[in-house]
Amino acid sequence: MTRKLYYDVVIAGCGVAGLYTALSLPHDRKILMLSKEDLASCDSMLAQGGICVLRDENDFDAYFEDTMRAGHYENRVESVEIMIHASRDIITHLLALGVRFEKNEDGSLAYTREGAHSKPRICFHKDITGEEITTTLLSHVQKLDNVTILEYTAMTDIIEENDTCVGIKAVSKDGKQLEIYAPDTVMATGGIGGLYRHSTNFSLLTGDACRIAKEHHVALEHMDYVQIHPTCLYSTKPGRSFLISESARGEGAVILNHKGERFVDELLPRDVVTEAILKEMEKEGAAHEFLSFEHVPETIVRAHFPNIYSRCLEEGYDLLKEPIPIVPAQHYFMGGVHVDRDSQTTMAHLYAVGETSCNGVHGKNRLASNSLLESLVFAKRAAEKIMKERTDYESNYNAACC
Ligand SMILES: Cc1cc2nc3c(=O)[nH]c(=O)nc-3n(C[C@H](O)[C@H](O)[C@H](O)COP(=O)(O)OP(=O)(O)OC[C@H]3O[C@@H](n4cnc5c(N)ncnc54)[C@H](O)[C@@H]3O)c2cc1C
Repeated sequence: MTRKLYYDVVIAGCGVAGLYTALSLPHDRKILMLSKEDLASCDSMLAQGGICVLRDENDFDAYFEDTMRAGHYENRVESVEIMIHASRDIITHLLALGVRFEKNEDGSLAYTREGAHSKPRICFHKDITGEEITTTLLSHVQKLDNVTILEYTAMTDIIEENDTCVGIKAVSKDGKQLEIYAPDTVMATGGIGGLYRHSTNFSLLTGDACRIAKEHHVALEHMDYVQIHPTCLYSTKPGRSFLISESARGEGAVILNHKGERFVDELLPRDVVTEAILKEMEKEGAAHEFLSFEHVPETIVRAHFPNIYSRCLEEGYDLLKEPIPIVPAQHYFMGGVHVDRDSQTTMAHLYAVGETSCNGVHGKNRLASNSLLESLVFAKRAAEKIMKERTDYESNYNAACC
């Protein structure tokens, strides 16, 4: 038997995009959130490097150009401008919520650098920035009386009536069917890495929102724009590929071939570095190349990359003493469900936010540390648009009644 539920807003996905949408909606709206598995199993928890911010107005042109150049100038200019302009407020809000970004001795934010950034502008918390942001957002959402979270409950379809989305269908772990009716639906189901054999993503992320959108003739965009991350720890074991953050290269780690020679500028955009590594692997007939931390001071390795250091040790490599084997793996999806500047899809009352959406910010190739920011900026815009439409509807309704 199908159980019917009624809410003001239903959000599929509990990564940063879904959580920030819920937090940005007024607290008198009844919200239901779904998570396909447990709450920790989302890519937001895995983000290592950090989150970009506009350092000051003088940085705008450089940040804009870095994002556009990395994206091969296929980015939607309006989206890039919106994201950069909103970045400072987002970081200020995260700090107010309790996110512990690294600071300098004078209390100002410390910035790190990643590939294709012309200057350091990335806020970070050790090498577990995503976990720090996501657990902070989650703790705030879990305190809200108006939000209910159902774990192990997967969206299987949307409910469409007269070309309008009126909710979603879902299934729980024990096979119970749900129909969740809501005036507004937000799809925040993350990336597509689960469809690949080698990916840094959780395997449960299988592009469900994209499949459902396609079945309902909701527009998709750039479904072939998939980012391969150049430096994942090489392993013959099955399972998720472990990422070695680009900020390691930003702090001086270098890529070497089997002769111990550098063959690429490590700070070029990801797609360029990936291509160079794959070519070198082919040339050498090798299954991997190497990343050496010999030029990164031990104090920085221990303070900034403790998680990477201990994970490599578990795999049998002491990166303070030897280069580690690395190989490219699927990492990020620039395409997705087409959305406008307010994260609205081509179907009325259906929104998409985070990695599953395509607002064009990243163009053909994402600039490092732009995706957490993009997810938060456009999640907030979705919440604001939902509320504006609701308020307009309610005032029109009241005017018609009186
Ligand atoms: C290893 C790694 C390192 C990264 N490092 C960085 C970084 O340093 N900086 C940066 O900006 N970005 C980084 N990224 C990218 C960034 O983490 C993601 O793009 C971002 O977190 C995506 O957030 P999201 O909310 O869209 O998706 P996710 O956080 O992946 O959340 C998806 C949610 O959707 C749910 N879901 C999926 N399908 C369904 C369904 N059918 N029904 C219900 N729920 C569903 C999942 O359970 C989950 O709760 C990294 C990614 C990885 C994998």
